[in-house]
Amino acid sequence: MEGLATGSLASLRERNRRSLISSLSERGMASRADLARLTGLSRSTVPSLVAEMQAMGLVDERHASASGGRPGVLLALSRGAGVVVAADFGHRRLRVAVFDLAHTVLADAVHDVDIDAPADRAMDTAMEAIHTTLRRAGADMGEVVGVGMGLPGPISRDSGTLGSSTILPAWVGLPVAAAMAERLGVPVFADNDANLGALAEVTFGAGRGFSEVAYLKVSSGIGAGLYMDGRIYRGGNGTAGEIGHVILDEDGLVCRCGNRGCLETLAGEQGIVDALRRSHGPDLDLAKVLELAKQGDLGCARMISDAGAAVGRAAASLCNLFNPQCVIVGGSLSAAGDLLMDPLRASIERYAIPSAARDVQIVPGELGARTETLGALALVIAESDRLVGSHSHPPAGSVVGA
Ligand SMILES: [Zn+2]
Repeated sequence: MEGLATGSLASLRERNRRSLISSLSERGMASRADLARLTGLSRSTVPSLVAEMQAMGLVDERHASASGGRPGVLLALSRGAGVVVAADFGHRRLRVAVFDLAHTVLADAVHDVDIDAPADRAMDTAMEAIHTTLRRAGADMGEVVGVGMGLPGPISRDSGTLGSSTILPAWVGLPVAAAMAERLGVPVFADNDANLGALAEVTFGAGRGFSEVAYLKVSSGIGAGLYMDGRIYRGGNGTAGEIGHVILDEDGLVCRCGNRGCLETLAGEQGIVDALRRSHGPDLDLAKVLELAKQGDLGCARMISDAGAAVGRAAASLCNLFNPQCVIVGGSLSAAGDLLMDPLRASIERYAIPSAARDVQIVPGELGARTETLGALALVIAESDRLVGSHSHPPAGSVVGA
């Protein structure tokens, strides 16, 4: 930092450096010319700042293979700039991944967890899983710039608490991010899993280049992440996108939300498997249903097709209301491929008004099982103001022994 004449010059340089770091962390990798364009800094300022950051061990040069006919040296934030932890809670499993700021996954592991058990216990499990995965990545808590958490329920933006008493009862009223931050001693950002899916697909996957995207997560729960006008739309208290509880059959089965005939009872994992157990035996699970459906089993194929049609019906209303350019379908059921997607597309075409249905692209997600952890990475990068090497002041007691 020598040679900075005045405080204001130093703070300008610091601001420019932050701006470079923020662009690099969003992109993963970028050339010096990309960085000038992205930050609006001059093409002479960027190289000198980059050189300074290289000397500080924050930036590495990567000789990436030429993509799109543009060979050359790319820059990425180095391992010394920190790591991001992603922790995605499902109902039975917790996936923890550690990324560097070039978006490379350093470690990735799935742990058993019961999210319906008392939240304290689930958070203890998460904390242990995070420490274990960090160790596997060869990192420690002092290097973590932020933790991104995904939860299968609505999270209030203001209070950071879990909102629904019926969807995730053990977690209601708990300020999840704050409670985890207290345990871990690093910043924690939490969001609904479908919102993370949307963020992941627009940042790294099928939604790149779109500003209006609806991401549908079709798994044990069904939720929509709405990316509107270039940002996640969360609604008044974080409940936006609960498409799984759109009612399609007033006399249908009772849903865990207390209503009857919600989309989730028709197209959620449990609904599909339960409906097939009578004909296909009690040991059935979704993986088996998908396998049988692909082998031509009529009952299984029928259930997947009906699920696709039901999701499409609810998504048609979503298209009418939000007019997305792109509907991305992810979650465990999306592994069914065209068996799910064809009836889903047909339903949107049939039930959405023509001007909403005409131009919308309806595509499967591109990121598979890593969708939510990549979304958590994108969330931390978007929300963290800690991406400037300030992680070198770890809170006492948070460093994991080797
Ligand atoms: Zn419901």
